[in-house]
Amino acid sequence: MTVTRFAPSPTGYLHIGNLRTALFNFLIARKAGGTFILRLDDTDPARSTPAFADAIQEDLAWLGLTWDRVERQSDRLDRFAAAADTLRGMGRLYEAFETPAELDLKRKKQLNMGQPPVYDRAALALGDAERARLRAARGAGVWRFLLDHGRITWADGIMGDLSITAASVSDPVLIRRDGQVLYTLASVVDDIDMGITDVVRGADHVTNTATQIQLIKALGGTVPRFAHHSLLTGAGGEALSKRLGTLALRELRAKGVEPMAVLSYLARLGSSQPVRLAGSLDELADGFDLTHFGAAPTKCDVDALYPLTARYLAGLPVDAVERDLEDLGVPRAMQARFWGAVRENITKRADLAFWWDMVNNGTPPLIDDADRGFVDEAFALLPEPPYCETSWADWTGAVKDATGRRGRDLFMPLREAITGRAQGPDMAALLPLFRRKPGI
Ligand code: GLU
Repeated sequence: MTVTRFAPSPTGYLHIGNLRTALFNFLIARKAGGTFILRLDDTDPARSTPAFADAIQEDLAWLGLTWDRVERQSDRLDRFAAAADTLRGMGRLYEAFETPAELDLKRKKQLNMGQPPVYDRAALALGDAERARLRAARGAGVWRFLLDHGRITWADGIMGDLSITAASVSDPVLIRRDGQVLYTLASVVDDIDMGITDVVRGADHVTNTATQIQLIKALGGTVPRFAHHSLLTGAGGEALSKRLGTLALRELRAKGVEPMAVLSYLARLGSSQPVRLAGSLDELADGFDLTHFGAAPTKCDVDALYPLTARYLAGLPVDAVERDLEDLGVPRAMQARFWGAVRENITKRADLAFWWDMVNNGTPPLIDDADRGFVDEAFALLPEPPYCETSWADWTGAVKDATGRRGRDLFMPLREAITGRAQGPDMAALLPLFRRKPGI
């Protein structure tokens, strides 16, 4: 049974980088017919908010990334405390009293001497009396996990065989001075308790994974399959982290990007398979395979989402946009014809309003000075509505006979005069939708 989880901290809105993690975990579970858990890593009361937790769920729901259940770390503090006790009992958790300033100084000294800035485990050498004295003087210390110094290896689902020397990593702090259990421990306890079989997350977690593998083993859990996807960069290779605010899913949604465009893009970006617009999440799941992904940083070009959105929309049947058409006030009897005429000429649903306004109210014409006489003559030949499917052909045929113009010279000035632009829907389909004779 495959069980995956997406574990955001509800401290901000989901952005395209988080979504990559969510989607990979979702697709792995979906493909295997397994379980996908949404886990809210909300142990930091100072930064987590219920509003962000709601927003995360709203954004995932918008994308159709449904979860089998939600877990909140804040509901599981007793489990984390029990795990900490187990580790203490095994001698793998020790209290350390250094202040941040003291640790900083130690690190500077180590760096000056050309050594890696790894915690020196000075607290391990403290006797009981010294510990009691420090606790009395400074209050509770932090609790660090005693790493086993050796190599930590795993076969990463994306990065291949990885090996990390435990001695190059500081014993991680699992419990803060104020008693708050930190992510490193909480995540491991949850992964064990929830039977997580596959963990996909960003490459920034590789060192965490090394220490978490030791923690899982210390707590008697089964190590899941780990995979670390590359981090996303901007189209020019620059770090995305600073722009992530503008890449929030709700921003993209507000700009009219369609869920299937984002999902199709992210399911393939950074893989050896080309990005292809998919019709459904099941289709994406069927073709999803972590082995297609590479470890190199992945360029993310958000602009690619717009043509994908346009293609997605162009392929929709009219009933998929019924709500949008209703909201615009398109009469039911006209919906299929209107949609058929404009669907290949919108880049987002909101563009429907532009065409609907045009066929109802007209639009400022675009007329080349050189074509003025021609257009006047042509419009004199255009009858009053209603128009039908043959109106455009009938009219342009009459204009051709009267003026001798043909081809582009005939059609383009008329299109531009009616629609105010050089590109747009098939005029034979658009003209019958006009309720008034277009003005020039
Ligand atoms: N809350 C962690 C994060 O957002 C979860 C990482 C993980 O998947 O374990 O980075």
